[in-house]
Amino acid sequence: MATTSEITTRARRGAKRLSRKLRVQSAPLSKPPHSSAESGPSHPSLESLQHLTSKCPRCSLCKFPPLLTVRSKAHSSICPSYDEYGFHSHSGSGRVIVANAVLEGRVGLDEATREVIFQCTMCGGCDMSCKFSTDIEISETMFALRAESHRRNGPLDAHARVLENLEHHGHPFDAEMGSKGDWLSSEPAVRVGMSQRLVLVGSAYALRTERRATLRNLVRLLGAAGVDFSVLGEGEPDTATMALHIGALDLFDRLARDLVTTLQRGGVQEIVCADPEDFATLRGHYPKVVQHDMRVRHAVEVLDEALAKGSLKPRHVVRKRVTYHDPCSLGRRSEEFQPWEGEVHKIMGQLLVTDPPKPVNRGTEGVYDAPRRILAAVPGVELVEMDRTREYAYCCGGSGGVPQAFPEFAANTAAERLDEAGATGAELVVSACPGCEHNLSAAAGGRRIEVTGIYDVLARSVLGPGKTVELAAGARKER
Ligand code: SF4
Ligand code: SF4
Repeated sequence: MATTSEITTRARRGAKRLSRKLRVQSAPLSKPPHSSAESGPSHPSLESLQHLTSKCPRCSLCKFPPLLTVRSKAHSSICPSYDEYGFHSHSGSGRVIVANAVLEGRVGLDEATREVIFQCTMCGGCDMSCKFSTDIEISETMFALRAESHRRNGPLDAHARVLENLEHHGHPFDAEMGSKGDWLSSEPAVRVGMSQRLVLVGSAYALRTERRATLRNLVRLLGAAGVDFSVLGEGEPDTATMALHIGALDLFDRLARDLVTTLQRGGVQEIVCADPEDFATLRGHYPKVVQHDMRVRHAVEVLDEALAKGSLKPRHVVRKRVTYHDPCSLGRRSEEFQPWEGEVHKIMGQLLVTDPPKPVNRGTEGVYDAPRRILAAVPGVELVEMDRTREYAYCCGGSGGVPQAFPEFAANTAAERLDEAGATGAELVVSACPGCEHNLSAAAGGRRIEVTGIYDVLARSVLGPGKTVELAAGARKER
């Protein structure tokens, strides 16, 4: 029987063939969504996506994973926002329709509309489900809609502080969280400064006290594997992912260009991201703003490679039933941005075709296998899968500015994901993202299942007791 990825690939080829066959002479409906060479790369504007916003027939498939992948009634939804609020407006389709109404001037961006726009984790689940059969760019539309909302009205109150922090402290957290170099005082062997391979540790790992142990395990593993790397410590720039999600594109663009300039001047050739939010932003959004030739990888890919080469050897038994939570940012949202220039034509009165065919990201190229291979390599670990995995995984609720603005929604989404993890009988739910680990941990109180990072599990097996940094008791439940 064909896998979901194979079916998706066939559907994509079919769509390309159809668009070649149907190419006709007609006036283009839309300008290319990405600016021409004279003005340089840029984010797609809401106007450039207008033709797509009128294409949604409200089939509602964006609320569920494709039927072929559904394994249980209890876990048959994919949209945390629709699950929380229960209105079509809170689905991917609803937001596409809001975008269309804003573009046509039928609704303004009042308080209620802005709530609809921002009560969304930007997880991309709807985008994947819709693209199983259609090519509507829901995520791209939602990013553009947030940017339009920000341009007209500025940030939500809860997000204003995040932007101030980014502007003044170089990270989205409050100053009381300390410096991004504080964790290094416990890891004196780590080289600080520029080098060809830079580990971008990310603000969440560096500043959240309960996540620093996981970061320290990562650098110890890289050291044990003989990987030559450095970190920047206090001077590490933020990728400005939060500014992107909030819609503050002026700030995002400036910080993105600054980061690339700083790293290129330092001779960096490869960026290894510890935090998949940085990974997704660097791969999926930086190319819209700034060109560079640095290779971008996630740390699980480096660890997976070290295991394959034999430079990391898991020896100690970790006897646990484990389930892996795919971070949206390491999976479906981590695909590389694919530039496209061309024209959109309407043919036969209703069909939209792109000339040349526009490449579409469908989530199949995310990083799904490396973390599973890492867990499978640990002796004693029994890996069990949740009902919703890979490009159709259910979000933890920790992204898109939701925890800052709508904490109850974030907590309820984490609880839903923990219920699903618990149904596997697992004792540990493991992720590879400080945001997921943080949001799931905060909701895990009173449950039998524990939340931890993939670097922690691998360190316990490779480094063993005494050399692995254990999470402080009680710190797991911090919000
Ligand atoms: S956004 Fe896509 S999946 Fe959702 S209702 Fe519209 S066409 Fe259907
Ligand atoms: S991005 Fe996630 S939360 Fe937002 S509409 Fe899509 S599936 Fe729902």
